[in-house]
Amino acid sequence: MKSYIQRFIFDKLPLRGAFVVLDDVWHTISSQREYPEGIQRFMGELLVANVLLTANLKLKGKVTIQIQDNPKLDLIVSESTHDLTVRATAKFTKAATADCQLKYEDCISSGALVISVDSEADGKLYQSIVALESGIELSDILNEYMLQSEQLKTFFLFTYTKDRVVGFMLQQLPDPANEHDKDLQRLFMMANTMHKSELLTNSITTMLHKLFNEDDIVLFDPQDIKFACTCSRERVTNVLRSLGKEEADMILSDEGVIRITCDFCNMVYIFDAPDVALIFESLCADMDSISKSIH
Ligand SMILES: [Zn+2]
Repeated sequence: MKSYIQRFIFDKLPLRGAFVVLDDVWHTISSQREYPEGIQRFMGELLVANVLLTANLKLKGKVTIQIQDNPKLDLIVSESTHDLTVRATAKFTKAATADCQLKYEDCISSGALVISVDSEADGKLYQSIVALESGIELSDILNEYMLQSEQLKTFFLFTYTKDRVVGFMLQQLPDPANEHDKDLQRLFMMANTMHKSELLTNSITTMLHKLFNEDDIVLFDPQDIKFACTCSRERVTNVLRSLGKEEADMILSDEGVIRITCDFCNMVYIFDAPDVALIFESLCADMDSISKSIH
């Protein structure tokens, strides 16, 4: 099934929301490698949160969420662009690899999430840090974060299964005179009665009708979400250059060729001895374009 986001707004209230379903996209991403169940759920929820946060962007660019200082994960990163392409990957520590039963709670109990917004227009990077806390799910962490940092009351709810990840968001818009306090309180209370399983069994129309049938809602058409990776031979070449000629020659003499695999899409880039010679011959000519990342 297709993956999509469907947004809605309240006709007479400063309130908006969205519903995200990751289905085919989730299959592609979760099958790139073997992940313990706990990491799969964490990555699925991160992706859904990532798309919902991108849905609020007024600029062209991308939102990236990655983890830092977590004992179970060396890396977990998800990305979503303004035109709704997504990708994600995770690398877990040796201790986590040995534990096939690794639980979601273990992954999310320490460290922090770094949320970065890359603006295409001005090349600026905006970053926020969200601390993870033991015993609290990602949706609740983000609800609290949005309230504290953006002063916007927000309700996130995520549901994960192996086949599908679904997310729901309700978010207050600025209401300077506080004239809608009572209505907003009522609607957030209604949203809080939602159960996770309803996200899997109900359509967005059914859910909105059940929760907010007294209010006028404008529901927009669904927009497709696609998997896409931005890796390229050119970017991988830059990584090779940053390794240095000595290191590259050493790998060549050990392995015959240099193989670099993209963590996000498993694309393999192969460089043989003449390729490597050419890369370092032209190095002086374009020192300026060296980037340390293939992503
Ligand atoms: Zn790739």
